[in-house]
Amino acid sequence: MRSIESICATAGEDVPSDTRPLTAPIYQNSVFEVDSLEQIDAIYRGATDGYLYSREFNPNVMILEDVMAQLEGGDDAVAFSSGMAAIGGTLLSLVKAGDRIVAGSDLYGGTNVLLRQHLSRLGVETEFVDFCDLTAVRRAFDDQPELALIESITNPLLRMPDIKAISKIAAMPGVRIVVDNTLATPLLMRPLRLGADVVLHSTTKSLGGHSDVTGGVAVANFDLTMDIHQSARVWGSVPDPFAAWLTVRGIRTLPLRVDRACENAMAVAQFLSARPEVSQAHYPGLPDHPQHKLARKTLGGRFGWMISFDLAGGLQAASSFVKALEMIKLAPSLGETRTTISHPAKTSHRSLSPEERVELGIGDGLIRMSCGIESAADIVADIEQALRKT
Ligand code: PLP
Repeated sequence: MRSIESICATAGEDVPSDTRPLTAPIYQNSVFEVDSLEQIDAIYRGATDGYLYSREFNPNVMILEDVMAQLEGGDDAVAFSSGMAAIGGTLLSLVKAGDRIVAGSDLYGGTNVLLRQHLSRLGVETEFVDFCDLTAVRRAFDDQPELALIESITNPLLRMPDIKAISKIAAMPGVRIVVDNTLATPLLMRPLRLGADVVLHSTTKSLGGHSDVTGGVAVANFDLTMDIHQSARVWGSVPDPFAAWLTVRGIRTLPLRVDRACENAMAVAQFLSARPEVSQAHYPGLPDHPQHKLARKTLGGRFGWMISFDLAGGLQAASSFVKALEMIKLAPSLGETRTTISHPAKTSHRSLSPEERVELGIGDGLIRMSCGIESAADIVADIEQALRKT
């Protein structure tokens, strides 16, 4: 008979061996038992599957990595605790002091801050370029940067660089093309097939899909993922097992959610583009979008679930509009089941100066909308009543 202290200290260790769960259980463990020192060696050498310590190997995290590698068509994937951790961890594994990055001029605000304020302190310089302007891209590559960081569909203006054309321009030894594919998802675009070396995602968005988990992932071939895994492990920016499990659960319904949300976005974009309160609607599915032809060719007949639009009345109109919405919520994320809006000048791009925002086309009247999977009629009705109050 064991003592009360020993019973308490080992409580919960009797794992039932005869269960056959249909989906993976949550391995909310920080550590795993091993049989021998030889087994530890074999796990680290990759000679056997096995788990030791969750910051390095965890079943839920590895399941997520396997799913993401399949979805993006890479050898391997590395899961991170957030999209920003995936971007930071990947860049830290690919560049060193003295290297140069060429990055999109209208990248997500957090990525912009990472490059401008943090990587610059480590001696990595970034040149910002409009990736939709191939002449400017050619010029930027003349000095042979080590890495190009591109968003497949940009946030918030939903512009679309031609990844295939950029990959051809950048086809020189030692140049890595890294694509943040968060807004397209692998359903609309698989950048590795277009010449990218690494694909990044904030899985917080449509991959997780339910506003209940923060995460990120990098997908690439083994030559790069070895170092990216190392970066995630030593900087400790790995996801929690429950977060990985939630993300995999979200991914199961990704195709259904993406199809429905893209249909809704097209209906909303067409509605907005005909409204007098809206001076410009930005959506790759609209014929007046500058990369509409490319979007038709690349996105498999869908155009994404994100829309942004300029309210003619500027900040005042934006403020009245967000207050008047009833079903649609002001919430600065995207890719959820419900429709949300955000105001980039006050959220994702607030760290930029007003002049920098104007240069990028992010005015005070710009609203970004992430369409959800509600009925299109309900989304349009809510927007219509709110526009009347601007
Ligand atoms: N990449 C894009 C395109 C984003 O929109 C975001 C966040 O909004 C991120 C990366 C950062 O992701 P996370 O918030 O999961 O760190």
